[in-house]
Amino acid sequence: MNAVDPVLPKDTDNPDWDSGTAELGHLLRPGQLDLSHKVILYLDDITVSFDGFRALDRLSLAIDAGELRCIIGPNGAGKTTMMDVITGKTRPDEGTVFFGQTIDLTRLGEPEIAHIGIGRKFQKPTIFEHHSAFENLELAMKADKRVRRTLFASLIDDERDRVAEVLRQIRLDQAADRPAGLLSHGQKQWLEIGMLLMQEPKLLLLDEPVAGMTDDETMRTAELFVSLAGKHSLVVVEHDMAFVKALGGKVTVLHEGSVLAEGDLDTVQNDQRVIEVYLGR
Ligand code: ADP
Ligand code: MG
Repeated sequence: MNAVDPVLPKDTDNPDWDSGTAELGHLLRPGQLDLSHKVILYLDDITVSFDGFRALDRLSLAIDAGELRCIIGPNGAGKTTMMDVITGKTRPDEGTVFFGQTIDLTRLGEPEIAHIGIGRKFQKPTIFEHHSAFENLELAMKADKRVRRTLFASLIDDERDRVAEVLRQIRLDQAADRPAGLLSHGQKQWLEIGMLLMQEPKLLLLDEPVAGMTDDETMRTAELFVSLAGKHSLVVVEHDMAFVKALGGKVTVLHEGSVLAEGDLDTVQNDQRVIEVYLGR
């Protein structure tokens, strides 16, 4: 993982985007992702209340560009609500969420947030079961590319290459032509991650991505995420500690809507407050 000088994917379709290099920070136009301070996501003092109950309580959190961050915490800690705030599904009562230095996500709607490079994986896969793995990735390609596809009837070589590359990344290159409905649970999850990757997100949010996977699939998923870090930034919510350990990144512990502890897994697991929260003392 290299959080210092991330090589972020270039969005060649959109001239309004730069490659995310710090040197260009002062040349940005409005709406561009400014990573000049190395931080891709900054939640500042976020509060979300549901009928007076604070699901998020002055939550502040910063994710570096290229980072692979794990979020853990007991049920009800606010992990999913945090993702809802980042993706624009839930508006915070207080606080701001910055994507890079300049883009305030709390001012954008869900589709805009997805379009500027934040991809979210939900637990239930939304793949097209009767289409092959290859076709699923093709369908997930950016809409403007799909328009070109309907005009020219077939994928151009670099699009085909991109689908093949993603199929390799998600370990489905041997299953490219298999109907998605026939894939294993773990493979379906990877396919959905692949569909997100087709949109070339800068930040990926993954809520309990290994739920229901076999141990082998879980470890392969950890390898996949580690390989994606650096090029992408990842925020992963997960309960499976073997998986969190395999990811090897910084861990943030949420409790009652704010950060209880942060650091490497060993440090937070030995934190007395974290132990008390998990043991319910
Ligand atoms: P986690 O993902 O960490 O388990 P959640 O973010 O799902 O926690 O939930 C945090 C708290 O907010 C829980 O107490 C939950 O019941 C409450 N909550 C979440 N969404 C809503 C909602 N739409 N309406 C009311 N309460 C909610
Ligand atoms: Mg949750």
